[in-house]
Amino acid sequence: MRFFSSFFWRLSVSFKKGGFDALAAEAGAASATSRLLSNSYWLVVMDAERLTDPIDKLSNILHEIAHLKGFLALEAGDDLYKVYRSGVKVMPTMQKAERIGSFTAFIGLDEAIVSEIEKRHLPELIKKNKLLKGEYIWQTSSEATALKEEIAKKEGINPNEIMRISKDGQTYKCFSYYEQRRVLNHIVGRIYENNREKFDSADDVMRLFFRAHFSGELLSIARLIEESFGKGAFRMVGMMDDNTNSARLIMDYLKKKSPEV
Ligand SMILES: [Zn+2]
Repeated sequence: MRFFSSFFWRLSVSFKKGGFDALAAEAGAASATSRLLSNSYWLVVMDAERLTDPIDKLSNILHEIAHLKGFLALEAGDDLYKVYRSGVKVMPTMQKAERIGSFTAFIGLDEAIVSEIEKRHLPELIKKNKLLKGEYIWQTSSEATALKEEIAKKEGINPNEIMRISKDGQTYKCFSYYEQRRVLNHIVGRIYENNREKFDSADDVMRLFFRAHFSGELLSIARLIEESFGKGAFRMVGMMDDNTNSARLIMDYLKKKSPEV
């Protein structure tokens, strides 16, 4: 019992010190899957002050749960442990980290996969949730669709990237990690084009990436990426992180490696 009381004591201390940011791994995000220092609990933390819209809240819960349910491999030491794999993210062993320093590869691909899961499954969750019946009717109405199309045209984005729009059309929210998902969809599309005899659809290839996130099996996607984009491409994709610039650089690289015909 002492353990639990100290665990909650630490939680309340974190809240007093800086609220959400003290708990979240990424300051500035509205939600995160995080681990408090010095214990092994993984938490989904959400910023209640920012997540007031019910669809935002639901999409963030879905996103973070997808992270939380992803593959996890730990390296155990004498009195500590280190995350070695999380989702499709890869970290060095303790010995390697000591030698060259710590790093995380495949951050961008990990976020792309999780956000793509979020984008594909959010509509059915809204539809199934009785508390969101009104929201579902509004978001799928012809008025909302017209508003989304109008904004998409003005902003130069795809209307299906708009996750929700308010009734007055003044506020809207897009799905997260657009650039990273663009890279993922490009990879998936090209793999499908090159392997039509192996896959029934591009969605079939996408499911392979989703499976890798939950099973940790990277070899099959690594091989398909290298076959379509050349040797070293998988390692290169591993360098994409969660910022827009790195996703655009990787997109540029992939397009050069396998130009459209
Ligand atoms: Zn995320």
